[in-house]
Amino acid sequence: MRAIKWNDSDGELKICSTPVPELSKENNILIKVKFCGICGTDIHIINKELSAKNGIVLGHEFTGEVIEKGIDVTTIDVGDRVVVNPNEGCGKCNFCQRGKPHFCLTGGLNSTIGIHRDGGWAEYCAVPESQVLQLPKIISYTQGVLCEPLFCIVHGWDLLGKVPDDSNILIIGAGITGLLWAKMLHHYGFRRVTITETVKSRLKIAENLSTDYHCIMGNELSVLFKGKTPDLDGFDFIIDCSGNPGGIQNGINYIKRGGTLNIFGLCPSGSKIYIDPSLICLNELKIVGTLINPFTSSRAIGLLENMVVNDINLNQMGVETFKLNEYKNALTAVTEKRITKAIFDLNE
Ligand SMILES: [Zn+2]
Ligand SMILES: [Zn+2]
Repeated sequence: MRAIKWNDSDGELKICSTPVPELSKENNILIKVKFCGICGTDIHIINKELSAKNGIVLGHEFTGEVIEKGIDVTTIDVGDRVVVNPNEGCGKCNFCQRGKPHFCLTGGLNSTIGIHRDGGWAEYCAVPESQVLQLPKIISYTQGVLCEPLFCIVHGWDLLGKVPDDSNILIIGAGITGLLWAKMLHHYGFRRVTITETVKSRLKIAENLSTDYHCIMGNELSVLFKGKTPDLDGFDFIIDCSGNPGGIQNGINYIKRGGTLNIFGLCPSGSKIYIDPSLICLNELKIVGTLINPFTSSRAIGLLENMVVNDINLNQMGVETFKLNEYKNALTAVTEKRITKAIFDLNE
């Protein structure tokens, strides 16, 4: 089969021919991959900001059809349409036992499929049954690639706590996660939402999202708040999807009393933001981070099922499809921010 492997020593991707994985365990499932996304995490790996196992097949956002299963598999059948949850805790360590498998010392981010175990930038992938979920018929294989980002968004949503109906919400960054947050908030009925971006073409995509949300460049927030008092009229919730410390720094000037900042996008490690701690105290500000997707996968699939009923149009969201051998073009299109997401089409 064809696959794209990560070579850690020379920091390069290589497309190669490699054997179809064998079902090494009785609880394993062999998936014929249909579509697999390129995630911001993959870009961080390629830029050497995050580590991945040497020689690994990357890709953790994928859908496919089951073509073989181990004898112990009971919940999934050959022929099923499925999506993969790339993260699972060991179940035994202190963090797992506290219900926080995303902090697991050996599982969680230390064993992610597509980072530490072979993933979906390949024609086939073998995955344990516990990490395979049914993909409802209404969700296409391409739309299903958005399941994994949505697993993380649902975790981020949980971390916001109670979100009153009249909340004024700011999304920083109109990449695919910012757009998915917007789609989810719209689905939940929120209408007082502002999206900021620094790239004009992405702002256009946000404007065309059929949400009627207020879309402005990040530096226009100061105009929006001219003559206003942000701690009274500002945002109850700020969700940073940009991973850009400058964007967060700008955004926190406009947070309302009692407001919450959710740092959802991953900033470069070692970067800094500055905040006056007296404001955290006096205005009871909350700062939360969001790491991957503990216990959210089946809920997020249900949510996506509800959302696609109305409209999840991948073209409209700036998603583009590429063949596996077009990976260089796909990565360039993403890093140059010409598109919001690239998806590999493995149907050949
Ligand atoms: Zn991802
Ligand atoms: Zn654990």
